[in-house]
Amino acid sequence: MIHSTIGNTPLRKDDYLSAKYNTTILVKEEFHNPGKSSKDRAAWFMVEDAIRNKKIKEGGTFVEASSGNTGISIALIAQELGYKAKIFVSASCSDEKIALLESYGASIERCDNSNGLHVFNSTQYLAQAYAANHDNTYFTNQYYNSNNIKAHYRTTGPELWEQTNGAVTHVIAGVGTGGSISGIGRFLKEQRRSIKIWGVEPLNSVYTFFLNQQPIPEDLPKFDDIEGIGRTFIPGSFDRNAVDRIFQVERLVSLHAAIAYRESTDELVGFSSAAVLAALETHSNEMKFSEDDVVVLFFPDHGDRYLHKIYHSAEVKQLILAANYEPLS
Ligand code: PMP
Repeated sequence: MIHSTIGNTPLRKDDYLSAKYNTTILVKEEFHNPGKSSKDRAAWFMVEDAIRNKKIKEGGTFVEASSGNTGISIALIAQELGYKAKIFVSASCSDEKIALLESYGASIERCDNSNGLHVFNSTQYLAQAYAANHDNTYFTNQYYNSNNIKAHYRTTGPELWEQTNGAVTHVIAGVGTGGSISGIGRFLKEQRRSIKIWGVEPLNSVYTFFLNQQPIPEDLPKFDDIEGIGRTFIPGSFDRNAVDRIFQVERLVSLHAAIAYRESTDELVGFSSAAVLAALETHSNEMKFSEDDVVVLFFPDHGDRYLHKIYHSAEVKQLILAANYEPLS
């Protein structure tokens, strides 16, 4: 049964980062989930809730709008349970994720999210419209489904508490729907309020404004494209009380962080994990870790989903060289 294989992912001590930042840094490796990302957790909770509460009949179609990973998780789980999946993905979704969606039998629609998620022809708009107009469909709606936060409140948060024997002092995670960080933060702050829960978003995404209670500027440029994180609106799946602070990072710095980390450790991290590394790199003065801290970095997926976008991209290599970073091999 697929359910029993979701979660309980390893928490690995990262010796390279621990030495670099002179504190204990642990990495929550979510790519050990069966669908190879943290999104299996939310997908399972949303799908299971829909089936248990008879929101969908046997053999029906789960519908979702996704940057890729949630869609992959829903397609995998739906296939295992004898349901179908119709996934509306953003045009920027990596080729590797599209191939995985196809391999799990999902029907895929690529959509244009360049003008936001609620406008005509966006993933969210089309997914909602499709579910409204077709029988025996269920729109899991990760942005507004309380099971998204609940999945991380019930599983990821408790795992981090147990795996660190209650010693965790910081969690740093990318923010997309906000479900992961909100569920983790809610649970951990109930254990010890002082645990710091820090989010990471791309430059010009809106969570920082929201958390600082600042108005969102009308002329805000499009946010940097870092697959899986960043938003133009605040969804119901983000709980401001669970999060202390959001750090913004640039796409280029994140790309560089991914490639520099691979050179130092041989590990291939996903794009949003690279954004977390970039946040450490650019904001470590403000983070002010002490030797006794136990810092968890949340890595939602693996670099093998971004081979063409990051690691095998001549364009990325050129961009980084042009930006005068440390020379790369
Ligand atoms: N990183 C990646 C690669 C993702 O796919 C997602 C989910 N969109 C996130 C981070 C953000 O997770 P959440 O939606 O729970 O905030």
